[in-house]
Amino acid sequence: MIDTNYVTLVFTVFAFVLFAFVYWRDSTNEGFGSDQILDSFVIILLGGLIGGKLLFRELNFDYFRYQIITAPFILEGILVGGGIAGYIEIKRHKWSAWKIGDMLAPALAIFQAVLFLGFWFRAAQLSSFLIFVAFLFLYLFIRALKKYRQLGSSIDFFLRKRRNMSVISGILFNVYLTGSSLIAILFLLSHINRNSIFWWFQLTFYFSILFASYILMRRRLNKQGVKMNPVGTFTMSFLSKIKNRLLRRKKEIKSEEKRIEQEDPFMQEYKTDGFRNLDDLGEEAADFTDHENLEAKKDVLEIEEEEIEETLEDIKKGTYGICEVCGKQIDKRRLEVYPTATTCIECANK
Ligand SMILES: [Zn+2]
Repeated sequence: MIDTNYVTLVFTVFAFVLFAFVYWRDSTNEGFGSDQILDSFVIILLGGLIGGKLLFRELNFDYFRYQIITAPFILEGILVGGGIAGYIEIKRHKWSAWKIGDMLAPALAIFQAVLFLGFWFRAAQLSSFLIFVAFLFLYLFIRALKKYRQLGSSIDFFLRKRRNMSVISGILFNVYLTGSSLIAILFLLSHINRNSIFWWFQLTFYFSILFASYILMRRRLNKQGVKMNPVGTFTMSFLSKIKNRLLRRKKEIKSEEKRIEQEDPFMQEYKTDGFRNLDDLGEEAADFTDHENLEAKKDVLEIEEEEIEETLEDIKKGTYGICEVCGKQIDKRRLEVYPTATTCIECANK
């Protein structure tokens, strides 16, 4: 005989590991640093574990003394505890809550799928298997929305935002909330147990989540676009400061190019009569070297001029300051030093 508690434990650990992996992969794709992810994961995990052991129970001395280790985790407690911890993390890092929600949605769905697969292995109840299938389906649905509708993707988000197009983040998270609470409600309604307080509690819990996600979704959709943390926007004064600097530099380049042309011995000779003189060998060699050096300088200036043109174009389109590689906003201080930068410092160092 297999120890059934052992099976549940293995699946719970596996569910957390898979959650961590999916969360890590999604957030690195979004340009979050590994240390920040690890940091927030540990805190969410702790919140989830504490919540799973403490929330929605009769807390008394006996529970802490004799039952806390042996008592199973309560899923609703894990979700609420993890949610509170996650919310504190988001506030601490001043991240956009909706963006993080979208990033977490696939990981949360797969986490619950594996957990219920574990329940099914332990008790071989058909309902656990059906819930596993439902969460797996929810996971795949969220993935598909992400991949084919570009929902919850930062790069798309920032590009749309900077072009002043409407963007609604938080869709994936809302899909997760709606899907998971519907699954739970269906399960509870197929296992009606009016005498159990816990049953009524769970039903209320999931109906509240369903209702909350409906309200949130409606509010997001009514907003016609964004009222997000202004992570992706520079102030107009900053943009015009950069623009003026670039225009000034463009003028400088133009006059420098003119000066180079005048210094160029070849050009001077052309100018007098339209022909180049053939000087004596020594002077001719010196002319050549001068000409080559000046041409090289001119090439450098031309490249800079091109970069400036492209940057001015970006400012006009509203896509200025977005990293070409990861889609995050480039740090203001970096742009002040290097206004034509097209990648953030992290991507540039890679
Ligand atoms: Zn980058």
